[in-house]
Amino acid sequence: MPIQHPSHITVLTTGGTVDKIYSLEGELIIGPPSVPELLSPVLSDINFTVQSVLKLDSLDMTDRDRAVLASALEAVETQHIMITHGTDTMPETARYLQANKKAQGKVVVLTGAMQPASMRASDASFNLGSAVTALGLLEPGIYIAMSGRIFPATTVLKDKARGIFTQGN
Ligand code: GLU
Repeated sequence: MPIQHPSHITVLTTGGTVDKIYSLEGELIIGPPSVPELLSPVLSDINFTVQSVLKLDSLDMTDRDRAVLASALEAVETQHIMITHGTDTMPETARYLQANKKAQGKVVVLTGAMQPASMRASDASFNLGSAVTALGLLEPGIYIAMSGRIFPATTVLKDKARGIFTQGN
């Protein structure tokens, strides 16, 4: 399989735990996108554009929000797109985007984190790196990069008891 190294990746951010921070009042809130800070130590020829589309815990995400995300996805001009998203409904959004067909011919990888990027023991950098590498290896389609694996949108599930993404039937 030829490897098509992406020269430009667009990152659409939607909130989720990856972007959660403690406010001055001590409440866990969705902060600004964490991706620029996660990418800041990375030396790469890839150009990244980060666009904040939504700022939601994914349990609060409705199909109206998903339609906003699908429109943003349709407007992206790069071939390779990463979406950061809360893990609880990441599979639902992946399937929505697949059914919605607004990203035909594009490689789209959703990722997120179980622990906020602002925490030292976060899985955010690991998952972001997995998603970036996956984008260069995958055929056009919608995928999830989590738990050190890549899953097609159609069958991916989150095993909430273990906090691990798995392949369903
Ligand atoms: N309820 C959160 C969400 O899905 C779960 C944590 C997470 O993002 O992993 O946004």
